[in-house]
Amino acid sequence: MNAMFERVALIGLGLIGASLSHVMRREGLARHIAGHAKTEATRNRAMALGLCDTMHGTAAAAAKGAELVVLCVPVSASGALAAEIAGVLAAGAILTDVGSVKQAVIRDVAPHVPDGVHFVPGHPIAGTEYSGPDAGFADLFHNRWCILTPPDGCRPEAVERLKAFWTACGAHVDFMSAEHHDLVLAITSHLPHLIAYNIVTTAADLEKVTNSEVIKYSAGGFRDFTRIAASDPVMWRDVFLNNREAVLEMLGRFSEDLSALQRAIRWGDGEKLFQLFTRAREIRRGIIAAGQDTAAPDFGRPH
Ligand code: NAP
Repeated sequence: MNAMFERVALIGLGLIGASLSHVMRREGLARHIAGHAKTEATRNRAMALGLCDTMHGTAAAAAKGAELVVLCVPVSASGALAAEIAGVLAAGAILTDVGSVKQAVIRDVAPHVPDGVHFVPGHPIAGTEYSGPDAGFADLFHNRWCILTPPDGCRPEAVERLKAFWTACGAHVDFMSAEHHDLVLAITSHLPHLIAYNIVTTAADLEKVTNSEVIKYSAGGFRDFTRIAASDPVMWRDVFLNNREAVLEMLGRFSEDLSALQRAIRWGDGEKLFQLFTRAREIRRGIIAAGQDTAAPDFGRPH
């Protein structure tokens, strides 16, 4: 098989890093996968799982000589890691990331990128509520979107090469500005997670009163929120710290609409409630009709 890259460095070997390793192995995309993660426990586990050909105690050792370096770490860790590896990045190498926020990553990483190295930020819109090296699987990116947000001046050959990489990983690649990405993801991903975290903790406080009825009757809608709220706390803390403006904007709109609902309930305005629920149901049906989803819970697949 003709490998796309001689050496790929995966910095961070959790859900996303491990999944990239699995799909690269399956598709033969890299001749050599070098890895690094923060703790020795993860580094050992990743080697036991066969995720990397070589494992390194520092990010710089892993990145040295790599044609492609992928930062698969929580958003807040990206800047310091970029500073650490800057000195070893080879001219012509592509540096990318998978962070769920793009403007903050560009702000933190771009200043460290040496001349001749191509920094092309990315975000695969694919995930589960599981984390760590054991959570990875080769099909995670299959039929999912991967958004690339190349800054002005990015070399088109590097962007095309990264696009080809993600396509080979099974993803559909889309392009947008980092600013637009952060706004879109604030409403489609970040706010839903915030709502899930909030409703689960609200219900948990009630549970002390209701003696586990919350768990017993969770199939009534609550269970779907608990799945989302099981997502990694470090990753999501970093998302909200780093996409503050866009999330606050969407949260403001959401709160206004929620107040309108609250008012309709208070004043017994059944017509308003009925209209809003009907509209929401039509939006869901429209998504299915547009081929963006099936009735099965795999929302977000391109087709
Ligand atoms: P994860 O399963 O929690 O894994 C994070 C990995 O980063 C771990 O291997 C961790 O190492 C490593 N790490 C953390 N800080 C580090 C540092 N300073 N130096 C070196 N390694 C470090 O997280 P994930 O779900 O793969 O998420 C990784 C990135 O992908 C995040 O930026 C997230 O926003 C983005 N993303 C996540 C999803 C999702 O649904 N999970 C989807 C799309 C994009 P240790 O285990 O040794 O601590």
